[in-house]
Amino acid sequence: MHSLLSRILFPFTMAASVGATYWLYDSKGYDPEIAAVIMTIAAGLWIWAWEFILPYRAHWNKSDGDLGTDAIHLTVSGLLTKFIKPLYIFLLIPAVGFLGSRFGSDELWPHHWNLVAQLALVLVLCEFGRYWFHRFAHSVPWLWNLHAVHHSPNRLYWLNAGRFHPLERFYLQIPELLPFILLNPSEPILMMYLVLNSAHGFYQHANIQTRIGPLNYVFSMSELHRWHHSKVIEQSDNNFGNILILWDLVFGTFYLPRDKEVGSIGLLNPDYPKNYIGQIIAPFQHRRDKPADYDERKEFYHAQVLAEK
Ligand SMILES: [Zn+2]
Repeated sequence: MHSLLSRILFPFTMAASVGATYWLYDSKGYDPEIAAVIMTIAAGLWIWAWEFILPYRAHWNKSDGDLGTDAIHLTVSGLLTKFIKPLYIFLLIPAVGFLGSRFGSDELWPHHWNLVAQLALVLVLCEFGRYWFHRFAHSVPWLWNLHAVHHSPNRLYWLNAGRFHPLERFYLQIPELLPFILLNPSEPILMMYLVLNSAHGFYQHANIQTRIGPLNYVFSMSELHRWHHSKVIEQSDNNFGNILILWDLVFGTFYLPRDKEVGSIGLLNPDYPKNYIGQIIAPFQHRRDKPADYDERKEFYHAQVLAEK
């Protein structure tokens, strides 16, 4: 039973989240903002519940002193980004529509395609920029200092999807929203994209047993993403995709070893702050994190990872 659930729960959750959002909009007459808010909250609670029914690692369900920090990240960063949807979505959908009508083109987008094909096209375009922003975040030291906040937890659970430095969350919006602004897909496409983005983010970080087989070559799901949070740099500098894994396959950063499970999760620096204020100012301090000083301290970091095994 668990084996079956670990295979079907992810595709079911994604299809149900996006499908129900469209149903609320199309059949029930909800505004796209309201439909997106309802289904994002519903998807988050649904995924959270499954962490207790079908956990990947039981001890990851215990707080590591990180619940409070993540709750503040969720509240503060979410206002800018994707977790406090009521404010974010109410502002974002009209703002993108306004910018699109001023700067975008109505002729370029294939409005006559069916909605699933339009959603797939928007995903491929958004993911291309998002892939490179994320890859640079791992290789450019000052970008890494911001991104390290997201990699700082020592366990993975659904709320990690909200742990981003607010500055990083802000600039990550650029590659995600640019295709919407320039190409003017219809409002329901943006609504479904936002719900898929949130539901997928929750599930990608969730502590849920997941075995999706060939879908690992389509979606950047938890089997892949756990490696991205590994303490071992050679493992974590892979699988940069946000929703899709397409651009990792194209650019050679797809990583899914068959014969092992991921080890320790998080940063190599044992002194990285665990509290919210500490994490907000950490990028502006000189810290011993990867990869900024990785080459210099390679032996130290490797010894540390080996000692934890
Ligand atoms: Zn990363």
